[in-house]
Amino acid sequence: MLVPRDFLSYSADGLRALLESWGEPAYRARQIREWAWQRGASDYAEMTNLPAALRERLAAEAPLQRAMVAERRVASDGARKYLLEFADGVRVETVGIPDDKGSGTLSSNDKVPDPLSSPSPPTRLTVCVSSQAGCALGCVFCATGRAGLTRSLGAGEIAEQVRIVAADFERAATNVVVMGQGEPFANYDAVLGALRLLNDPQALGIGARHITVSTSGIISGIERLAEEPEQFRLAVSLHAATQELRDRLMPGLRKQPLDKLRQALANYRERSRRRVSLEYVLLRDVNDHDSDLQALADFARAIGAHINLLPYNDTATDGMAAENAARTQQAADFLRNVGIETTIRRSRGAEIAAACGQLANAS
Ligand code: SAH
Ligand code: SF4
Repeated sequence: MLVPRDFLSYSADGLRALLESWGEPAYRARQIREWAWQRGASDYAEMTNLPAALRERLAAEAPLQRAMVAERRVASDGARKYLLEFADGVRVETVGIPDDKGSGTLSSNDKVPDPLSSPSPPTRLTVCVSSQAGCALGCVFCATGRAGLTRSLGAGEIAEQVRIVAADFERAATNVVVMGQGEPFANYDAVLGALRLLNDPQALGIGARHITVSTSGIISGIERLAEEPEQFRLAVSLHAATQELRDRLMPGLRKQPLDKLRQALANYRERSRRRVSLEYVLLRDVNDHDSDLQALADFARAIGAHINLLPYNDTATDGMAAENAARTQQAADFLRNVGIETTIRRSRGAEIAAACGQLANAS
């Protein structure tokens, strides 16, 4: 019996294979992708250059069910947070972050651009997407981790988030960060499929260098990404550079020890020639002692990484508090003084809990 499978769950390759199995010419997949991703068609009936029989078959066997915007909130700095709902009722959060008014010049090429804090050209729109509904890894400071995993998203469901945000801002997305809910490398194939859809000129056409995937440190995913031909960027959430503290803060990563992570990142650097960013959320009196920062600097130096210091968004976790501005600056100075390139990331849209990477479930 035919079981319909929704359009969004197909990767670009999956769609091509489906159409090929129906005996359709190769260009049909391109036509459909253009309608779906560039023109935002919400019904196959709109795809007027497809034969009617094909449109009917698609509607029956690969129904085009768009994600719905269940909720939308706008912060005073222009960031918008969306609660998107897929056909099965599963919801994820996505954030759109427009360019920063009054920002300075572009960073030079040898730096790792941090899409969330580096100065931007006037029309920049960064979209922060979720890769899973929930997350199984349970990092203690993370609201997503606390709720556990509901399910992984498909490639189309991840790319769909970018399409919806771009349509809402009425302009093209220029940057994507996979830093919303979920661990991207616990859902590697779908995430890679999504990155390719985002990158594909026939779909969303965003340059690979403007797409960043953030992992908590799943080594197999880092190894795989190192072998991918595209120049996608990698960020790693370190948060602790000593094993004992990391085990405490990120208990789901105990089987991915720091020495192996460091080795995998050194290999990644070697293979891909791309620089990695290390994300480090500053937690007062937890991971901000000079000895913690020294360990962080040593780790970063060993792999030639850049550091992004993140402000902690309060998730009411026992023993966790944000650093104030002065101590954040001190930490950045410490790292820079020992020769590590460091950026302090501002929290965007904090008042609507839109801060990317800490998408609260309690909307
Ligand atoms: N699971 C992936 C990607 C999503 S989280 C990862 O962990 O990298 C994106 C970033 O937000 C990560 O660096 C994550 O550790 C960080 N983050 C999670 N909770 C946070 C919080 N309460 N405050 C600040 N950053 C947080
Ligand atoms: Fe998952 Fe990342 Fe949150 Fe850890 S920080 S629980 S890996 S989403």
